[in-house]
Amino acid sequence: QKAQIGVTGLAVMGRNLARNFARHGHTVALHNRSYGRTKELVEEFGHEGTFLPAETAEQFVASLERPRRVVIMVKAGPATDAVIDEFAPLLEEGDMLIDAGNAHYADTRRREAALKAKGLHFVGAGVSGGEEGALHGPSIMPGGPKESYEALGPLLEDIAAKVDGEPCCVHVGPDGAGHFVKMVHNGIEYADMQLIAEAYDLLRRVGGHSPAEIAEIFKGWNEGRLGSYLIEITAEVLKQVDAATGKAFVDVVADAAEQKGTGRWTVQAALDLGVPVSGIAESVFARALSGGKDERAAAAEAGLPGPSAGAEHSGDLVADVEQALFASKIVAYAQGFQQIQAASKEYGWDIDPGAMAKIWRAGCIIRAKFLDFIKQAYDKKPDLATLLVDQYFLDAVSGAQDAWRRVVVTAAQQGIPAPGFASALAYYDGLRAERLPAALIQGQRDFFGAHTYQRVDKPGSFHTLWAAEGRPEVDA
Ligand code: NDP
Repeated sequence: QKAQIGVTGLAVMGRNLARNFARHGHTVALHNRSYGRTKELVEEFGHEGTFLPAETAEQFVASLERPRRVVIMVKAGPATDAVIDEFAPLLEEGDMLIDAGNAHYADTRRREAALKAKGLHFVGAGVSGGEEGALHGPSIMPGGPKESYEALGPLLEDIAAKVDGEPCCVHVGPDGAGHFVKMVHNGIEYADMQLIAEAYDLLRRVGGHSPAEIAEIFKGWNEGRLGSYLIEITAEVLKQVDAATGKAFVDVVADAAEQKGTGRWTVQAALDLGVPVSGIAESVFARALSGGKDERAAAAEAGLPGPSAGAEHSGDLVADVEQALFASKIVAYAQGFQQIQAASKEYGWDIDPGAMAKIWRAGCIIRAKFLDFIKQAYDKKPDLATLLVDQYFLDAVSGAQDAWRRVVVTAAQQGIPAPGFASALAYYDGLRAERLPAALIQGQRDFFGAHTYQRVDKPGSFHTLWAAEGRPEVDA
């Protein structure tokens, strides 16, 4: 008996993916650097399906049907290279190595090119949804050569999350496209979480609501257009009471947010592509600020002053915050999708953005009702310049904007940080501005560096002889 698929790397993620394949009736070959994990899996979950445990890489490869499909689920980085180096020499032309870890897309591009030269298919697949998703149905974003999807796609679609019977898995595009999209998914997740946290903070500090009350507010929002996994779990977290102290759980947790790096990668890639993902960037920076122990201690010691008088919020705070949250969320997603489209163009990936919205509707952390509207927007117009001009989103943002502005004003007046809400609003106003002060920046650049500028009234590049027109010569 041969296995249809093999999994190497059997920590939480790999183990659950292997079980998921087996539960769907596939025979699964198992391998892990240290045999202990392999043995444990078979002992604990062997009854769930047919597993072929292997002690060595050679045994593992021999137990797979051709073309071989080897899922790698190990620590991202050098471990992935070590595993590839171990397996590649054992594989034959047409076999597939599928890296389902959180690799950087540039590594995936490099690995794909190297393995292609050896006649092997390398598929960088983004897998979202954590360990629960891996077991019960993740959202899967496979890249790599299109032809590999013919032999691999049906297996991945089997184990993926489903919405109305449709799998949350699609071939994203060649080489690193899958890992790129997974990275931006995580970046959007950062933005979503930051915006929700700002909403909570304002409801608490401006509205005076308790965590338990805010949990109820979020529960209500979850029934509406904000309905999403993150809103739902936020209500659960806010409801939680710390057993040891009897306080709200959120009040006993240290307020320094950690990060593993995919948010930072998203922003770094966006800087290289020149795409303004300010919502994602602010959320990464907000986490960094929260973790800036020394700076925060110094500020506390110096007593950095807040506003002398905090003005009351003018309006229905709960309703206004809901509007600000929804509008800011739209901006963050518009920016993330713009980044995907920019990368798709840069690398020739030909990604269908609507399909990305579709496969994020279940199995992943940012699953939300409103992804349906994103999908519809791109179905209507695949080359949409920005989601903000799609009628649904345009209506939502224009309906929200007065409330959104009131919330940003209140936050600023009361000295409560709301970088997500404020930067999203600034982005929105920047996008719709008829004239931007960028014209002045062009003038400055031309003045000190003769960088030239373009004019509004005729084509071409121009440079003004500043010194010659009566200004003193300056040293650059
Ligand atoms: P870990 O990232 O903790 O990695 C542990 C696994 O990697 C073990 O099987 C370990 O083998 C193996 N490993 C480490 N170094 C090497 C090496 N040099 N050579 C061979 N094998 C090695 O496991 P997770 O299950 O948490 O995550 C796996 C991947 O999935 C990661 O890339 C992660 O980023 C990604 N991911 C994780 C999610 C999560 O929620 N945890 C969600 C989505 C993706 P051994 O047992 O011998 O030590």
